[in-house]
Amino acid sequence: MSPRRNDPRRKRARDQRAPSGDDASDALILRITGGERRETGPDGVWAIRRISGAAATKAYRCPGCHQEIPPGMPHVVAWRPGGDGDDRRHWHTSCWERRTHRGVRLPRR
Ligand SMILES: [Zn+2]
Repeated sequence: MSPRRNDPRRKRARDQRAPSGDDASDALILRITGGERRETGPDGVWAIRRISGAAATKAYRCPGCHQEIPPGMPHVVAWRPGGDGDDRRHWHTSCWERRTHRGVRLPRR
């Protein structure tokens, strides 16, 4: 019996709009922290949380593009882990991801 070629990474059942580093550990960390996860970027370590549209009840100014994030738009909150939360910033999801991809990221295969 020869094992079938079975590469689960080939199959993209879930079409994730947001490319993230590694899906498996993302999901794990989400479960552990209840929504927060750590991300290391060229500018250090951040704790981030994804805000759903329903949870976004205020308008924020995105530091990435300096445009407003209107209420009801899903977005990302990022802050320095271990800080007092004063440096919390609300980002457009796309702006946040563009920020991290500016660095030395290899393209996904
Ligand atoms: Zn933005």
